[in-house]
Amino acid sequence: MARKEYVVEEVVKIMSNIENVRNIAIIAHVDHGKSTLTDSLVARAGLISKELAGEQRILDFEELEQKRGITIKAANISLGFNFRGKDYVINLIDTPGHVDFGGHVTRALRAVDGVILVVDSVEGVMPQTETVLRQALKERAKPVVFINKVDRLINELKLDPKQMMDRIGRIISNINKIIDSAAPPEFKSSWKVSVEAGTVAIGSAFNKWALSLPYLKEKGISFQKLYELVQQEKKKEAIELAPLDEVILGMVIQHLPNPRKAQEYRIKHLWHGDYESPVGKSMLNCDPNGPLVGVVIGVVHDKNAGEISVLRLFSGKVQKGQDVYVISRNELTKIQQVAIYMGPDRVSVDSVIAGNIAAVIGVKDVFIGETVSSQVIEPFEQIKHYSEPVVTKSVEPKNSMDLAKLIDVLKQLSREDPTLKVEINHETGEYLISGMGELHLEIVEHKIKNEQGVDIVVSPPIVVYRETIKNDLKEPVESKSPNKHNRFYIVVEKLPDEVRKWIVEQGFMGGKIKNVDYVVKKLIELGMDRDEAKNFWSIYDGNILINATKGIQYLNETQELIIQGFIEAMQKGPLAQEKVVGVKVKLVDAMLHEDHVHRGPAQVIPAVKRGIYAAMIKAGTTLLEPKQKVLFQIPHEYAGPILNIVNGKRGQLLDMQQDEESTTIIAIFPVAEMFGFSNEVRGASQGRALWYPEYWGFEEIPRDLLDRTVRQIRERKGLPPEPPTVEVFLE
Ligand code: GDP
Repeated sequence: MARKEYVVEEVVKIMSNIENVRNIAIIAHVDHGKSTLTDSLVARAGLISKELAGEQRILDFEELEQKRGITIKAANISLGFNFRGKDYVINLIDTPGHVDFGGHVTRALRAVDGVILVVDSVEGVMPQTETVLRQALKERAKPVVFINKVDRLINELKLDPKQMMDRIGRIISNINKIIDSAAPPEFKSSWKVSVEAGTVAIGSAFNKWALSLPYLKEKGISFQKLYELVQQEKKKEAIELAPLDEVILGMVIQHLPNPRKAQEYRIKHLWHGDYESPVGKSMLNCDPNGPLVGVVIGVVHDKNAGEISVLRLFSGKVQKGQDVYVISRNELTKIQQVAIYMGPDRVSVDSVIAGNIAAVIGVKDVFIGETVSSQVIEPFEQIKHYSEPVVTKSVEPKNSMDLAKLIDVLKQLSREDPTLKVEINHETGEYLISGMGELHLEIVEHKIKNEQGVDIVVSPPIVVYRETIKNDLKEPVESKSPNKHNRFYIVVEKLPDEVRKWIVEQGFMGGKIKNVDYVVKKLIELGMDRDEAKNFWSIYDGNILINATKGIQYLNETQELIIQGFIEAMQKGPLAQEKVVGVKVKLVDAMLHEDHVHRGPAQVIPAVKRGIYAAMIKAGTTLLEPKQKVLFQIPHEYAGPILNIVNGKRGQLLDMQQDEESTTIIAIFPVAEMFGFSNEVRGASQGRALWYPEYWGFEEIPRDLLDRTVRQIRERKGLPPEPPTVEVFLE
């Protein structure tokens, strides 16, 4: 098979033949070899020299990535390949493996139709392997598997071929268990991976050899022969016999779907418009002649070109000079430039058609997940994140002259990274950045200082808490408006866990809900009372407002104000002004003044808000604290010191297992106890522990810490240290 070099014109030509295009991502637990594999594949397209691949990680091009040695930003690259006499383009999206950047992974997965799951054969399936595979399946991206670092099984662990295959068999069976539980029902069996079907390859990304069963058969190579070459460290011969790129790309081209095939089933999952409409049909068919539809999957800021949006195109083609709508704003804008990526380089082209990934200049100030189209259409489903920010820091410029610049930079960073939240505290004028963990915020700080050149002062990290109630309140509280002409009767109840989880995941933030029937049906399915579900008025974060009144005069006219009061109460709870979660607020009765002048915003909003506060305090309030699940992998002799850390930091031990090589400990920790964690773990294990944190969720804070923590938060916010009593709200 001849290796071929491609120039950009050729790549564009192949892109127009959709059957020969693949959009894929490589996903893996951190350090399992994703970057190394990427390099070898990129080398095949003639973009970097073959010899350098493996040593030079060309996708990790950001300064910071190089410094930290981890990939933190999804980058795109379009590559040309010749396979069995046909030319193909593989659009490759690089994804990060670190937990703090989980949001990036989800975004990249929206753009692709298939993934290569890389698993280290020595470590096996790790927590993040499971997380990223589940996300891929949820986005309906089909998996194939590459089991990496097999050279270590042979040369370090000295496994014979049978022991090796047993071990690989166990890894495959663990992967299939995840596929079985997380794949969409229609793909549960057809997406399972196996050596026989050729959806699993094994090899060494670093040494650039790989094999799959179909490849061995096709070439008439014996497994024993390759095993011996690797054992004798005859690297060159191993590469010649079974070159990594050929095996992996063969697997991708044969087993991962082309965009047209994938859009047939993916569009119905990602977009909920009318499938019979011309634009709906065009997307289902990936029709390059239909209206243009694309989704923003990345925003990149370039010093020379300005803001660049990266789009996955689902229909039509994007052309220079074309007018397109940014759907959420209903705004028309002109595409100034169209480009594709070849490695970190952006190369201008005239147009790119549906099924591919394009970089465009001219679509500005957009968020990730924004729909761009030549027509006004129903937008795509929002990209969801499966974790919430748990750590906050305040930032201010060292030099007050830099404030405007800092605000710009923060806006830009939060657009590029949807897991980063930026808020302003209106009372103090401070800017608050919230992220997925300490490391995430450190990287943001680094970007502000070193890449954007704004010198900043940063506060120590603050843990983000939630407020909730402990019991249901049966008797309603009565809350009067300041003018005493309006009365609201309110109860609060705990939301069932299933309902809370679902609405948090949907990301409803009090706005108008489009698909009300669907939401009602889902709420009932998840265990909510039918009458209550039908009469919900608003969903904010993890809380619901229900109208349980009958026949109240003027209620419709006051509805919006009542919702506003509800939202304000949920944004800042009564205990410590943290966000509220898991509360069902029921308006059970109301009396409203007949003259609308006497039931305006200044009357209704505070009355509702104070009523909810009083009801929550009566029901009993508490704090929820964020937790992370941490997996440690350590040499046996360090198990003791690590268990001491678990005990010393309010950790809960979930699991502990030993095999010949190492001990694995899994424990849950409060984020509040985790600042400076890396240093402690390093100290306790003389740097020999590997550890991986993962988002776990919010759990109730222990009783003996509640009062102290509430007081600390209140003092930090400049509030009186004691939380208010119910009387304060019911005067
Ligand atoms: P990523 O975090 O998944 O991108 O992983 P990298 O590609 O950065 O690889 C992590 C480490 O594993 C690096 O030190 C690589 O050199 C090493 N590595 C990658 N592939 C192999 C392999 O096939 N064999 C061995 N022995 N080491 C490998």
